[in-house]
Amino acid sequence: MDLIEDHQHQQERSEPYPGTLYIVGTPIGNLGDLSPRAKHILKTASLIACEDTRRSGQLLKLIKSKVPLLSYHKHNYKSRQSQLLDILESSGSLALISDAGLPGINDPGQELVHAARCNSHEVICIPGPCAATTALVISGLPSERFCFEGFLPKKQSLRKKRLEEISQEKRTTIIYESPHQLIKLLEDLSISCGKERPIQIARELTKRYEESIGKTIDEVIKYFIKNKPKGEFTIVLGGNNNKKDRISELEALNKLNILINKGEKSNIAARKVAEETGYEKKWLYSKLHKRLDK
Ligand code: SAM
Repeated sequence: MDLIEDHQHQQERSEPYPGTLYIVGTPIGNLGDLSPRAKHILKTASLIACEDTRRSGQLLKLIKSKVPLLSYHKHNYKSRQSQLLDILESSGSLALISDAGLPGINDPGQELVHAARCNSHEVICIPGPCAATTALVISGLPSERFCFEGFLPKKQSLRKKRLEEISQEKRTTIIYESPHQLIKLLEDLSISCGKERPIQIARELTKRYEESIGKTIDEVIKYFIKNKPKGEFTIVLGGNNNKKDRISELEALNKLNILINKGEKSNIAARKVAEETGYEKKWLYSKLHKRLDK
């Protein structure tokens, strides 16, 4: 079927279909990115589930939609589920949107989709903007294989483990981060991946002050120390292309201890291990001093 025929076919079927859950992508900044089909569903569905009714109310006002909104977010998704499934059961159509972007990608959605599928309801996605893939395709980093991490854990032990995994990952990795945590994340990445690892940071995608900052972890840290991070950020990190796999932190620290025990000066030992392993000299040195302070 060619494109025009397919378009006619879609129109004849006249969406929204009864008993169907629509996952609708909405703009991540530029309202021009709301597709005509998304607009149509948001004007004709029986109900729209959204994260924040005030925020989504503004979008509906703009497109002159009178469809009722119901909040659906991380604090109430369990209690809302049966109410939403009842709509599908009674042959209504349901649209799910998030504050911005694609529901289900670091936003509420996957539980509702799972429940709808378990109850044999149709689920259709109206594709739309997604910060992760938008940042990836403009990064210039390999995009044929990639992984998505969303926000890294805050809890120290989990975060350390995740950073270690990311440092070994050969594929391009996409990470979300808030502006006030960005420099901390970049410093953590510098320790685990080395300061020369390629990186591209997308700021304020699709918005007026959109920009893209690269090319190494060291360069972007310097940039953000001078230019306080403001707005929304998606981080695209190049994969680990070291010929040799990077050794673990513990192994690097053991190498350091061996050199020190052989009588090497601590700053020289830290430099040698940094060169050999790719770990930051500053980090190795700080570990050494923590140990000596004890
Ligand atoms: N579901 C959304 C999507 O598909 O894009 C992502 C929601 S997640 C809760 C929000 C995070 O996405 C932000 O903290 C930021 O890291 C990233 N993000 C959202 N909009 C962005 C934009 N315009 N530019 C850069 N990053 C953005």
